[in-house]
Amino acid sequence: MAYRIGIIGLGKIANDQHVPVIQANPAFQLTAVSSQRGLSIPGVPHAFTSTEEMLRLSDLDAVAVCTPPQVRHLIARDALKAGKHVLLEKPPAATLSELEDLKRIADRESRVLFTTWHSQYNRGVAEARRALQGQVVRRLLVTWKEDVRHWHPGQQWIWEAGGFGVFDPGINALSIVTRIMPEPIFVRRADLEFPANRDAPIAATLEFGSGRKDADLRAVFDWRQTGPQSWDIEIETEAGAQLKLSHGGSRLEIDGRLVAEEKPQEYQGIYALFAELLESGTSEVDPDPFRLVADAFMLGRRVQVEPFED
Ligand code: NAP
Repeated sequence: MAYRIGIIGLGKIANDQHVPVIQANPAFQLTAVSSQRGLSIPGVPHAFTSTEEMLRLSDLDAVAVCTPPQVRHLIARDALKAGKHVLLEKPPAATLSELEDLKRIADRESRVLFTTWHSQYNRGVAEARRALQGQVVRRLLVTWKEDVRHWHPGQQWIWEAGGFGVFDPGINALSIVTRIMPEPIFVRRADLEFPANRDAPIAATLEFGSGRKDADLRAVFDWRQTGPQSWDIEIETEAGAQLKLSHGGSRLEIDGRLVAEEKPQEYQGIYALFAELLESGTSEVDPDPFRLVADAFMLGRRVQVEPFED
């Protein structure tokens, strides 16, 4: 029987991906939505304006929390306590402590908790991970530069504290990095550029350390990019291999040879795995990309830049 699932927060990603992907997956039945603005989806039996009311539905097995991250913890907590399995959009919470709390509650309530990192579900990422196994990385350059006005029009929460600013897309790059690197990396230095009128950074430059002292490992995130957008990760190994992941992880070249290139099927991959996790009753909680962001904010140097207006 299909898992009966509800969506909380009918914003951009819920409409772009969660609704159509759930509706196309026979393992799920989209049973309910909860929208503060009172939105509904044709053909979906239940629509609520209050999450609490939705969670009282007995014929609901799971929820996907697609709100901004600042409010995810309390919503997910209530959902787990109401006996629902929980899928979390990225970033999974506002702080690491909140995520730890959710994991504890999910374990206690024997519910499945799933932290999704959509960029990891690209074949290029899986191939890069395979190629880097057992290798030593000498150079890493992440270039994640996009136009915030194009991708986040009118979204105010990303500019508030806890909205993560440019780390909202930047964490997608870090979720690929943590997935493919053969050894963990650590933030050693971070310069965070805050517009004078905003509480979240518009750009960031990160330097990482690893087990290898002379490795050159960096990331550059910038939301002021107009024209061509860049979502690239370049890697060089000690053995001399050159990897280039581009288009957000959907295209991989190794030593100039095309290894993977396909239309992203990220959310199809997420819901296929969620069905497996529900079947086996297993949680998947991966805090690694989130921890790098927390570390960048913890030791980051704050640089004030010119005000940003939408
Ligand atoms: P969004 O368009 O602003 O949608 C978020 C929705 O959450 C709002 O439309 C609202 O929907 C609901 N919401 C807002 N404030 C809330 C509150 N205080 N309590 C409960 N619900 C609230 O944002 P989004 O782009 O969809 O992003 C949501 C999450 O998905 C973020 O964490 C983001 O990083 C992630 N994500 C976004 C994208 C993308 O392309 N935009 C891609 C991947 C992941 P209702 O009025 O219907 O309740």
